[in-house]
Order: sequence, then structure tokens, then C-alpha cells
Amino acid sequence: MREGNLEAPTRHPLGWKSEAFYDEAKTFEELERVFDICHGCRRCVNLCTAFPTLFDLVDASSTLEVDGVAKLDYWKVVDQCYLCDTCYMTKCPYVPPHTWNVDFPHLMLRAKAIKFKKGAVGFRDKLLSSTDAMGKLATIPVVVQVVNAVNRNGLARNLLDQTLGVHKDRELPEYARSKFRSSFTESKSVAAKDGNNTPGKVAIFSTCYVNYNEPGMGHDLLAVLAHNEIPYVLLENEACCGMPKLELGDLESVSSLKQKNIPGMAKLARDGYAILTPIPSCTLMFKQELPLMFPEDAEVKAVQDAMFDPFEYFVLRARDGLLKKDFKHKLGKVAYHIPCHSRVQNVGQKTREMLQMIPDTAVTTIERCAGHDGTWGVKKEYFDNSMKIGRPVFRQMAAVEPDYVSSDCPIAGRHIMQGMGAEKKQAEKAHPLTLLRKAYGI
Ligand code: SF4
Ligand code: SF4
Repeated sequence: MREGNLEAPTRHPLGWKSEAFYDEAKTFEELERVFDICHGCRRCVNLCTAFPTLFDLVDASSTLEVDGVAKLDYWKVVDQCYLCDTCYMTKCPYVPPHTWNVDFPHLMLRAKAIKFKKGAVGFRDKLLSSTDAMGKLATIPVVVQVVNAVNRNGLARNLLDQTLGVHKDRELPEYARSKFRSSFTESKSVAAKDGNNTPGKVAIFSTCYVNYNEPGMGHDLLAVLAHNEIPYVLLENEACCGMPKLELGDLESVSSLKQKNIPGMAKLARDGYAILTPIPSCTLMFKQELPLMFPEDAEVKAVQDAMFDPFEYFVLRARDGLLKKDFKHKLGKVAYHIPCHSRVQNVGQKTREMLQMIPDTAVTTIERCAGHDGTWGVKKEYFDNSMKIGRPVFRQMAAVEPDYVSSDCPIAGRHIMQGMGAEKKQAEKAHPLTLLRKAYGI
């Protein structure tokens, strides 16, 4: 038996439609097998709180082995995993094709799916994962002012904490008065120039977050595309990408969201568009999670092939000699955090590469999980752990004394600013798309 993989890691389809997937006894057998390998390895001890929870359980058991841990306590480990994929991506030498076949995040997902199917997921979690429905409701005129006022009000936040389990200290994003999709500016009519690496026209999947919370990021993307004479369109009839539902283990809802999004996206892919989303988790959903859930689906495959992270697209566009570099403004010191869901895309640090093309700009890259995840770090019971996991990131970002704090994931960006506290000094939070637009002076 080899110690670790010599081949490139791969991932098996999720197999969620098989009967065995939801078989609790079989899942617990697999959990025991994998937990035992992890206990003997312990490389991931400092990545998140799932592994320390497991190792503490083993160390406190009568046998000092996994067989001494009560099966019911396995759920404690499952609940601490927010599916960032870092263990799979950066640490584990036993991922497929190694014969031990350890895919810790996908095993956690299977356990979460069983929990969901058993009805053991509460109202708060279902509500928080309904980003589209919440966004639609919260951005109704007048309601939006009330929601934002509630978010800022200490008494109301205490009430939310006690009734709903949303931690009172978590800084939440505001809802926008004008949605991205309503204020979308049409592309100028320019001819698409295909490059060797990039289609010359872009379709945009705007994402719930950009549509309802930070439309400015979406407009920054449009401005950069327009400046580079890349024609764009907006996907019609967009629904949530499904990532929040996936993280909850609600795979049937992921499937129905896929039905809403994929046909229109596949048509755009076949028409030769590059599809861009400004949020890494949503990009990952189409690049990896849906293809692993629906490996035989040709439309899912077409979308996967057409999907780009925006900075992956820009760097490839530069390689094609089709990206302008007429930057007018320097950015100074940028503390840049690459989120887990960008790392998992396996395209390298494309945002860093792009920002480094801007003159008089020093980019310090922090490649470590910030610990928020989509909704995990909002929840009362996980807030403290999310701040603890993020502490090394907060410290490294502050040490740079940056002009800008930036992450491809705007939720991680806000979490980092909160964690830096007074240490952030004069630093401004800005998404990399905003920084790029600033540098162009457009
Ligand atoms: S996927 Fe992320 S949160 Fe889950 S166990 Fe791995 S490192 Fe921890
Ligand atoms: S996931 Fe892999 S690297 Fe991490 S503790 Fe388990 S066996 Fe070790």
C-alpha cells in the first residue's frame, strides 16, 4: 500500500440517486471507516472544527479508537463541517484514485442529506438557505428599509438571536434598494472577438447575493467587460445556484433549482458564450457540484465547460492578447484572500495574477479558510468557531497594513473585516472586481 497518491486527485460522482446513498447503516459504516483513517492521520487537525471534534471524541473514548465513539456523536462532527473542501484539496493524500478513497466533504454531505431527509433540519436553516426567496421578500420597497434597520438594531438582533438562532454579533449584509437584475445595463453592440482560450461574448449568472445584496459588484463586472469591448447578456429566468441547499443536504431542492437554471444556461453555452458568475461558490456549483450530482446530463456538462471564474476569464483573455492594460490608478497595498471555493476550482490564483498586472500594486495573498462559509458562520452555535477558524486570516491580513482588504467571496470579505476589528485601521473592503474597475478608472 502506498502512503499517498501519485496521480492527480479525482472525484467520484456523488451517487445520490442510489438507495445505498440514503442507507443510514451503510453511511455509518463508511463514516467509521473514514474517521478511523483520519484518526490515524490527523493532518487536518487545524483546518476547521470538524476534525478537532472527531479527535476529541476519540481521545475521550474508552478504547482511544473510533470504535469507542458513540455513533450518535458522529453527528457532532458532521455538524461542524461546512463543506469548504479544503481538507480534500490541500491535505488529504488518500483522496481518489488512492484505494482508501477518502472524500471527507462528500461523506459529510451524504450524512447531511440523510439528516435532511429524516426531517432533522430546522426552520432557521431552511430559511437561511432560501436566498432567492429571502432576497425577493427583503428587497420589496419599504420592506428593504425595515430589514436593514432590523439588522442594525441591537434589540432586534437580540430577538433574532433568541428566536431564530442568528448570532447577534454577526455583521450581516444589507439588502439593496435596487436589484442588480432590475438595474442591469444592456451591452453596447460590439462584435465578439473569440481568442484561443476564451469565447468573445459573455453570459452572466448574476447570483442571489449580487442581485439582492451587492449589485455594485455586478455593475463593476459589466463595466470591465464593456471597457474591454466584450459583449454580454444576462441569463433569463435565473434561480439560486443551489449551493445553500447543497450545504444543508437538501439535494431534491438542488435538483429542482438545476431544472430552472440549466436549460437556459446550456443554450447559451451551445451558442458560444462564456458563462461568468461573480461569486466563487456559485461558479463552483456549476463547475463541480452539479456535474458530480448529474454526471450523465449533457446540458450540465455543456454548462460546466462554458463556466469561468471572472478572473480566470480575464487572465485567459490577457493571454489571448485581448485584455486592455490601460490602468489609470494604482491600488497600493492589497491584502487579498483566496476563498476555499475559488481554490477548489483548480484554476490557480487568477485574481492575484490579474491584480498584479496593475502598476504600483502590491498584492499579499492569504490562502487559508476564513471560516464563515455561506450561512454556517451566521448561526448562533457556530459563530464563535467561525471567528476562531478565521483568526489566522485576520492576523495575516492586518499585518500588511493594507489599503484594501479583498476576497473573491464578498461574505468572507465582510467576515474578515469584522474579525480584523480595530486592526483594519484605514483599510477599505473592496471586491476584486471593484478594484479592477477602480484601476481602470472607469
Ligand atoms: S470540508 Fe472544510 S469544514 Fe469540512 S471537514 Fe473539510 S476542511 Fe473541515
Ligand atoms: S481527510 Fe485525509 S488528510 Fe485529513 S485527517 Fe482525514 S485522512 Fe488525514
